[in-house]
Formats: sequence, C-alpha cells, structure tokens
Amino acid sequence: MIKLDRLPVMTGKSARKSWGPSLRAGTRAARTGRRLPGPGWQTRRMRITLLAGGVGGARFLRGLRMAAPDAEITVIGNTGDDIMLFGLHVCPDLDTVMYTLGGGISEEQGWGRADETYAVQSELTAYGAGPDWFRLGDRDFATHIARTSMLSAGLPLSVVTRQLCERWRPGVRLLPMTDDDVQTHVEIDDEAGRRTVHFQEWWVRLHAKVPALSFIASGAEQAAPAPGVLQAIADADFVVLPPSNPVVSIGVILAIPGIAEAVGTKTVVGVSPVIGGAPVRGMADACLAAIGVKTSAAAVAAHYGPGLLDGWLVDSSDASAVAAVEATELAGIAVRALPLLMTDVATTATIARAAIDLAAELAR
Ligand code: GDP
Ligand code: CA
Repeated sequence: MIKLDRLPVMTGKSARKSWGPSLRAGTRAARTGRRLPGPGWQTRRMRITLLAGGVGGARFLRGLRMAAPDAEITVIGNTGDDIMLFGLHVCPDLDTVMYTLGGGISEEQGWGRADETYAVQSELTAYGAGPDWFRLGDRDFATHIARTSMLSAGLPLSVVTRQLCERWRPGVRLLPMTDDDVQTHVEIDDEAGRRTVHFQEWWVRLHAKVPALSFIASGAEQAAPAPGVLQAIADADFVVLPPSNPVVSIGVILAIPGIAEAVGTKTVVGVSPVIGGAPVRGMADACLAAIGVKTSAAAVAAHYGPGLLDGWLVDSSDASAVAAVEATELAGIAVRALPLLMTDVATTATIARAAIDLAAELAR
C-alpha cells in the first residue's frame, strides 16, 4: 500500500541541484549526474517519453504530435483508474489516449467514443445489473470485451494494449505503467462511516464531493514497471509531465517502484495542470487538497520538487505569482510562462514546442 501524499525520494538529487539558470549551464551534468542527450540528438529522431493520465495527457499529446511529427513518442499511461465492470477490464486513461490520438474520441466529453449509443447499458439496467453510475457506451463496450478476452487468454496488459492500438494507430507507443494489478483507492469518511472506495467510485459516483482523507496506490509496492517502461525512460532525450492530474495520474505512475528513480536521472519538463488557482477542467483540486498541496502552479511544481523536475511551464496569468516564490520554493526548477489553455491542437502544439525548447535548453 503506497500513499500518494509524497513522491518517492530521489536520493541525493535535490541536494546536488543548481540554484539559478546562469549556474546551470556547463557544469550541469557533473553536478546532477544526469545523462546529457547523446550526440545524436540533433541528427536522429528525437525521443520523448511522457507519463500521462487521461484527458489532460491525451490533449497535450495531440499537440506534441503536431509540434514534433518526427519524434518517437512513448506514453507511459496510468492504470490506477482501471476498474472491473460487468466482468470487463476497463482502462479509462489508456483508452482516452488511444481514442483521442486515434480519432475516435467524443470531443464534447473528452473521453469515450464519438457517435456513441447506450443499448447495452440500458439492457443491463433493465436486468438491475449495476453499477449504473459509470457510463459505458456500446462502442466502448467492444473495446473492453476485446481487452478482457485477450487478458483471459493470458496476454499481459502491455501486449493487449499494443493489439488494441493496431486498430487506432495513435502515432505514439502506448505502454501501461505496469502489467500488474494496481488500483487507486480513496479513504473517505461520510454517513456510511470511514472506509476506502475505488477511485472511480469517489470520482464518478460521489463527484469528488466527499472529502478524500488520503489516496492509496493499492498493489503498487509489489508491482513492476511494464516491459519497455524503464527502457523508454532511459532512452528518452527528455521526459515530459503533461498537464495530467499530479496525484491520481502522474503520482500513481511514479509510485510504481523504479519509475521515479529512472525519471529522476533524466531532464524532465512539466506543464502545469493548474491555471489561476483552478484545474481548468475536472476536480483535481480535490485531489491536491487531500494531500495538502495548494491548487496553484507553484505548489504543484514544489510538490514534484527539483529532485524530479528541471523545467516547469506555467500559464502567463500565473507568471508573477510563480516568480514571487521561484527563488525559494522552486529553486533549481527553470520556469517559463506562456498561455497554457489547450483550446485547440495548434495552440496545444505551441505549448508542446515550448516544452521541447525548454528541455533542449536545460539539457545543454
Ligand atoms: P484524467 O485522467 O482524464 O483526469 O486526465 P489527466 O490526469 O491526464 O488530466 C486532467 C487534468 O488536465 C485536469 O486536472 C486539468 O488540471 C488538466 N487540464 C485539462 N485541460 C487543460 C488545459 O487546457 N490546460 C492545462 N494546462 N491543463 C488542463
Ligand atoms: Ca484518469
């Protein structure tokens, strides 16, 4: 049972971090022990690895693909949100990435399939078969049936995900963080008493309205990164943390033993999922509150910390607030400000380009 209030400690990293942009250049590799991009970075295809949740990660990826059409992009997807429904293995975050990049997403919702119908779920409801609070469309059901049948035949989730991507061709390599069973659980206290529920029950059924006391990545300590995950991090020119939920998306991925340590050795640039004290869409503020982190671009960067993060993109509207604490709380993290609303793919590509430029600057 791994609690998600603190990230794994990257030994010795933060102590060796630099204190200002001017000091960073030149001596960086010696000081941090971080591997510089190989000499081929300029000539061979750029390799970018991301840790991603669902909607925020997927939308960013659409922009990244446009900004770096020739790059080899590997996505390490969160599976802590996975849930068994009607005997089927549902992977909300992997599917959101796959559908969004594959052109099958419902643009209005940001998740689930476009042109969806709900015949199967209404038939299930007629049988009194629940739960009825998690909406599954007919087209989406087919994905979960295909996935579950392959898993039942003994294939690991990483292989199954590759199979499903054969159809969607997302233009990135999509890897689940682990092939093992890891579930995000939420400790709550309401009229039914103090208890632990699955993340989806708290998020979807309870709309994150019942205060969360803590988040637990159940099963994480026995889990291993899926095949290819550590290699994708090691091989990357840099790692990007897209604007995904820092606690239940990126925090869960970092809880898998070995992943945070591997990421900590790389140049890492993050994009703030918080703009002007709010999480743009969704209820990520409820997750941050539960782990005692303020909903601000600076607080999220401080939570990741200089042991993990080298660069941090914040929205222009947050520039002055972040600059006020940059010398103290964010020491060792290079901050750049630009508009971070992912309104369309072209705007998102500008954000992705800024992340690439900052990574290149920091890796020099
Ligand atoms: P989920 O698994 O579907 O919740 O998706 P993620 O964890 O990948 O991302 C959710 C987060 O994306 C939300 O908590 C928001 O903070 C963030 N987000 C959504 N839209 C935007 C946007 O336009 N700009 C930025 N900067 N962040 C966004
Ligand atoms: Ca999610």
